[in-house]
Amino acid sequence: MSLGKAMIHVRKQKAISKAAALAAEHGTALHAFQSNHILQMPVLVLNASYEPINICGARRALVLVLKGIARTEEEHGLMLHAQRSRIPMPSVIRLLEYRRIPHQTRALSRKNILLRDRNTCQYCGEALPPSELTLDHVVPRSRGGSSTWENLVACCHACNRHKGNRMLSEIEDMILLREPRPFSLHTSRQIMRMLGRSDDRWRKYLFY
Ligand SMILES: [Zn+2]
Repeated sequence: MSLGKAMIHVRKQKAISKAAALAAEHGTALHAFQSNHILQMPVLVLNASYEPINICGARRALVLVLKGIARTEEEHGLMLHAQRSRIPMPSVIRLLEYRRIPHQTRALSRKNILLRDRNTCQYCGEALPPSELTLDHVVPRSRGGSSTWENLVACCHACNRHKGNRMLSEIEDMILLREPRPFSLHTSRQIMRMLGRSDDRWRKYLFY
């Protein structure tokens, strides 16, 4: 083997072992799993004015940061291992340009009503998984009750059966825990507060 060929051979070997090391560092299934998990973590989104406006997944938050639409205000302390680089994961991001947030109401849906009512039966107060909750018409449909934010509440099956087709005024032992309201930005903020209660990085933006 000539000297030149030997040099090339050594270089190739080095390149291969470097690639193998990189693959070992970044390409394992465990890493992929961790990355996926990290990318789904909730991130608090602030308006340019520091007003909390939304919660999004870490993946979306990273895209906003990388595109220069938002900047990271608080880091999570976790790193995303991408190709040859480690990206600090955001916990709170802030939009660089102020966005007017219309006081819109969210779509009336089972999911949003359960979200508004925090997966809690509005009669007995029990918090349950969504699969164990139903929607109850406060004024029964058979009595002219409509399917609106003000007339639909999360309800456990037991309370739903107990109430049946009666009006609340006809039942002695049942009351509504809260007046049902449309899902507004105000409600969203309540949910953000609930989610951020335990996270110090969110707290200072949510409880002011
Ligand atoms: Zn109940």
